[in-house]
Amino acid sequence: MSVESAGHQRGLLLVLSGPSGVGKDTVWRAAAPCLPSVQKAVTCTTRARRPNEVEGVDYFFVSDAEFDRLLRDNLLLEWANVHAHRVGIPVSSVSGRMERGEDVICIIEVQGARRIRELYPEALLIFLKPPPGREADTLKERIVGRGAADDAEVERRLQTATWELGQTDLYDHQIINDQVERAASELCEVVLREKEQRQEETAGGKRETG
Ligand code: ADP
Ligand code: 5GP
Repeated sequence: MSVESAGHQRGLLLVLSGPSGVGKDTVWRAAAPCLPSVQKAVTCTTRARRPNEVEGVDYFFVSDAEFDRLLRDNLLLEWANVHAHRVGIPVSSVSGRMERGEDVICIIEVQGARRIRELYPEALLIFLKPPPGREADTLKERIVGRGAADDAEVERRLQTATWELGQTDLYDHQIINDQVERAASELCEVVLREKEQRQEETAGGKRETG
């Protein structure tokens, strides 16, 4: 029996992307209380854990060998090389949850968002960007302020950001992260509106067929 015929709808898949340091994790943390139905998909990374990061909450921190094994065993929905390390979404963080009707958010970079769009055309893709005018300076301040990145790493992230900021056509919505609380409340509004619309469409479809 499919999930829909069992009486509940498939969960909403959200993607939140944006250049490194723009504030994706910070804005998501601020928005999460108003979106209790949405769980973050914890992803895998081969980079070293930053001092404030928690295993299994921020990431699953894995070795290169472990990442190779996950790839070999087809346990990653998608993966990418970013800033000299690898990241990937465990299949188990997304598929089963959506089938059970749970909403999932993937906080990932642009190549991953493109892959999710192919795999799940109905996903809602949101791009978070710095305020217009001094994008590079803002990103630099935030990356440096967060710590744990040497000059070469900061430079690499800024170069990637230039490319990423030109890829916004892929996304359904763009949100400017000028202030955390404002951006978080816009994120909540966008997601709640989308959920409401999809519920109405499903209810309309059921009335027509039933
Ligand atoms: P990302 O997940 O996009 O890489 P983070 O959420 O780690 O970015 O944020 C990077 C840094 O920027 C953090 O130190 C965070 O506190 C800071 N930050 C996030 N949003 C804002 C904002 N609107 N104004 C000022 N600083 C911010
Ligand atoms: P950081 O090293 O700053 O934690 O993250 C590097 C980038 O990789 C961020 O833009 C983050 O959102 C992204 N990312 C984290 N996990 C995944 C993943 O599983 N897949 C993809 N494509 N990107 C990810």
